[in-house]
Amino acid sequence: MTPVVELDAVSRTYPGGVVAVRHADLAVGRGELVGVVGPSGSGKSTMLHLMGTLDLPSEGRVVVDGHDVASLTDREVSALRAQRIGFVFQQFHLAGGTPVIDNVADGLLYTGAAIRARRERAEVALERVGLSHRLGHLPHALSGGERQRVAIARAVVGEPALLLADEPTGNLDTASGQAVLARLCELSAAGTTVVVITHDRDVAAAMDRRIEMRDGRIVADTGGTCR
Ligand code: ADP
Repeated sequence: MTPVVELDAVSRTYPGGVVAVRHADLAVGRGELVGVVGPSGSGKSTMLHLMGTLDLPSEGRVVVDGHDVASLTDREVSALRAQRIGFVFQQFHLAGGTPVIDNVADGLLYTGAAIRARRERAEVALERVGLSHRLGHLPHALSGGERQRVAIARAVVGEPALLLADEPTGNLDTASGQAVLARLCELSAAGTTVVVITHDRDVAAAMDRRIEMRDGRIVADTGGTCR
């Protein structure tokens, strides 16, 4: 089966000479639930950005959904990112003055669909994360855990093949973190490929597969399952 994301001898050197990712080889299949672990500065975020087409490798190839990212035009990369990749960050990144339902509906702007159709899909996505009762709330009226569930709903409302999460439970208490983790597990079970950077032992332990990074290298890749 074609991997959802593949790194082929990928390195990323930043201007000034820091090699953040060194010669990484990796293939992640449909529905895999992958944790990326390692000390601060080991290259985890850089690797996630490369997988998410937010950055390009200095060497090697990144292939997302069968497309070699470097061979695409800027417009094609934007379309690939909008349609096939969802992002969740530690800081939620919700639009403050915008009700929850529209924060999620805006995740479908790229489709060109009318607002009513986008809101209908947003409502379904919010129902799935247990937030049907918060549609009209503004983000600041929600708890951290609820905000992160809104961010997940927005990331997956377009049904991306790949969900990339950078420390999604980093700002949450244990119970809220577990609720977020449960959503990620459900998404993976439903066929979304989920890659999560985490320092949280509980989150790392719940992953089917763990990739460990050190000094820009993948030093361990264990427990892989390809559904
Ligand atoms: P991690 O996510 O594991 O903390 P990063 O991918 O953020 O690691 O960083 C890996 C290395 O690359 C670090 O040495 C970091 O200082 C460096 N780095 C990250 N981003 C940049 C940048 N934009 N410019 C220069 N160096 C960077």
